[in-house]
Amino acid sequence: TAIKVGLLFGGRSGEHQVSITSARAIASALEKGENKQKYQVTPFYINQNGVWLNPEQSAQVLASGIPDDSSTTQGSKWQFPVQCQEMEVWFPILHGPNGEDGTVQGLLTLMDVPFVGSGVLGSALGMDKIAMKNAFDHAQLPQVDYIAVTRDEVFSGPCVFPKLCDRIDTALGYPCFVKPANLGSSVGIAKAKTRQELEEALDSAAQYDHRIIVEAGVKAREVECAVLGNSQAKASVVGEITYNADFYDYETKYTDGKAQLIIPAQLPENIVHKIQEMSLKAFHALNCQGLSRVDFFYVEETGEVLINEINTLPGFTALSMYPQLWEASGVKFADLVDKLINFAMNKQ
Ligand code: ADP
Ligand code: MG
Ligand code: MG
Repeated sequence: TAIKVGLLFGGRSGEHQVSITSARAIASALEKGENKQKYQVTPFYINQNGVWLNPEQSAQVLASGIPDDSSTTQGSKWQFPVQCQEMEVWFPILHGPNGEDGTVQGLLTLMDVPFVGSGVLGSALGMDKIAMKNAFDHAQLPQVDYIAVTRDEVFSGPCVFPKLCDRIDTALGYPCFVKPANLGSSVGIAKAKTRQELEEALDSAAQYDHRIIVEAGVKAREVECAVLGNSQAKASVVGEITYNADFYDYETKYTDGKAQLIIPAQLPENIVHKIQEMSLKAFHALNCQGLSRVDFFYVEETGEVLINEINTLPGFTALSMYPQLWEASGVKFADLVDKLINFAMNKQ
């Protein structure tokens, strides 16, 4: 008999719409070919108010691709549709806070049902850029210099704040990147080229998060590698992102035609190997499972490869980097989805 898969999508983050598009692609892959007999998909949509809609309402969102925020948290916040209890495996495809960060993974762990992707630890470490970079450091993965800052330090007033900026000035120089620690899709990220821009960027990042990271800016190519599996995880071919913008910001990410994926990236073979090795090392250093996309800076002049970040639930639309990297590595989209469910049910 078919395995009951709970497809969990939407969610309370800025990447809500991407999640819907990812879920549509996954649902249709599960209804094709051999997957059709093997799996029975039940959609569960979390709207932007955090309400879990029932499968019937969720199916409408999946079919239309349009968010449904008609239900509010008023009185119904902690009710889960009864059909949740019947699921044999979950496929959460939620990006960003409240989904990619360990919160939903904790809930599914308590339900005692297997789920696709990393558990609480890997998800939480992958979402918080300070914790992530500290773990990368510990694993001796090369990366840019960075300084962790708290909101309290930013709002500390005219005595302390200038000292903080002095410290960043001296340690990192310009340009530097100021980021809220717990977001994605470049939301809240600013490139500061001057002291004044640094001050403004810190102020702005502090509106998003109480944890902030400031990094030395590098001029480099941006390359990405996909990881699939558990303890024996494999790395895909390497892809590159090119764009016509100051950096890979929100608008560039989500406006059609502003960024191009080049798969495979034109890179020396030894660099490709290095990136694949570093990807697996990063994946295991954070205790990730199932899937991750690992992003790098490649400094062509020096041959340096610096790890930028890991994304534990990367974009999964038909056009997204993660599935495209596997397609180019010989794993078709429908097989990829099948493999991920298998890895979820046999986590080890
Ligand atoms: P997100 O998790 O939101 O994708 P990233 O840390 O990947 O955040 O930053 C988004 C983009 O900002 C990167 O893809 C890159 O274009 C630019 N960027 C971030 N940090 C640096 C850096 N230290 N040096 C140069 N560019 C950077
Ligand atoms: Mg990210
Ligand atoms: Mg990124």
